Amino acid sequence: MSEPKLVYSSKINKIRSFALSLIFIGFIVMYGGIFSKKIPWLMVTFFILGLLFVLLSCIVYFWIGMLSTKALPITCPTCEKPTKMLGRVDACMHCKQPLTLDENLEGMEFDEKYNSRKYKRQLKKEAKNHD
Ligand SMILES: [Zn+2]
Repeated sequence: MSEPKLVYSSKINKIRSFALSLIFIGFIVMYGGIFSKKIPWLMVTFFILGLLFVLLSCIVYFWIGMLSTKALPITCPTCEKPTKMLGRVDACMHCKQPLTLDENLEGMEFDEKYNSRKYKRQLKKEAKNHD
């Protein structure tokens, strides 16, 4: 396995590329339908499957739209371009600068785990122990 890349893309960008790849998969599957046109039921299956992928990507695009309205618009401190944040930690859409809303995490290495419920629970536990 290769080393995980230290460059993080913003969540919205990630979901967007996921939706785009779904469209491509959909078209490839439909293309498979053209090759199997001698077998009508197989062709129909390919087309329906391909259509489902394209539909799914439309749903994902719609979902991105919903997420974007909920995301916090901020100005990136590094490239000074406007970007949007989802969750406690995210990356800038333009320069991939890791961003955080949590002062406790500032200066720490960017990690997806800060968004997980498990990590939040762990934080609560630690806070309790300090009392
Ligand atoms: Zn930036």
